[in-house]
Amino acid sequence: MSADLEALARELDAAFPRLTPAERLHTLAERVPGRTVFTTSLGIEDQMLTHLIFSEKLGIEVKTLDTGRLFPEAYQVWRDTEEKYGRRIRAVYPNGEALEEMVNDQGVDGLYYAPEFRKRCCGVRKVEPLGRALHGAAAWITGLRRDQSANRQGMEFVGFDAAHGLIKANPLFDWTREEIRLFTEDAHVPVNPLHAKGFLSIGCAPCTRAVKPGEPERAGRWWWEEETLRECGLHVEADGRVVRAKLVPGN
Ligand code: SF4
Repeated sequence: MSADLEALARELDAAFPRLTPAERLHTLAERVPGRTVFTTSLGIEDQMLTHLIFSEKLGIEVKTLDTGRLFPEAYQVWRDTEEKYGRRIRAVYPNGEALEEMVNDQGVDGLYYAPEFRKRCCGVRKVEPLGRALHGAAAWITGLRRDQSANRQGMEFVGFDAAHGLIKANPLFDWTREEIRLFTEDAHVPVNPLHAKGFLSIGCAPCTRAVKPGEPERAGRWWWEEETLRECGLHVEADGRVVRAKLVPGN
């Protein structure tokens, strides 16, 4: 199965120059043999993809990882989106026992005290739930873009994610933030009002601040840590390397 998915990933990736994001999603929905899951963080890129999936009535599951530490504005976007499109965004929660153990060990805001505490928090609240969200799926769709950070420059439309054993597709990989902003504005897509206040990349409330003019887009995420450590682990390969390039072997 993995070999088939790898071959399909190569084939789909080769077709991308001719396709719009909506066509890319249609292609994935039609060609992937099995369940396709889109995980949304409710940020502007993900809202564009949710809009396309719901408007085009695609058979793609839309899920969000509710870490329990999201901004109130994120919950409002979640509610507004379900109301507008009449579709449910499925929630995936951290394991209760692991969460209790972590908070009792390192404190409710232990994530600020040491990098390993922060990583443990992302592991419990995001990485483990992501594994459950993707369990049994053949493809995973994300809203990642190349120009979000230096780590993402080499990203392509479709690759094979060996860590999860599935196709990983980034239908907005070559779109800019401004193109996405214009699209969501034209299509009246609900977006988080914090974006307009300088929160360009929005994650959990304790770990996100607004960026200053001229700062990189993701400078407001885990800003107190060294730049190379600023990933939550969702887009990291099994050996710990940050996913930064085509994942299809031989490409
Ligand atoms: Fe915890 Fe911050 Fe990671 Fe959210 S982003 S899971 S609050 S460390």
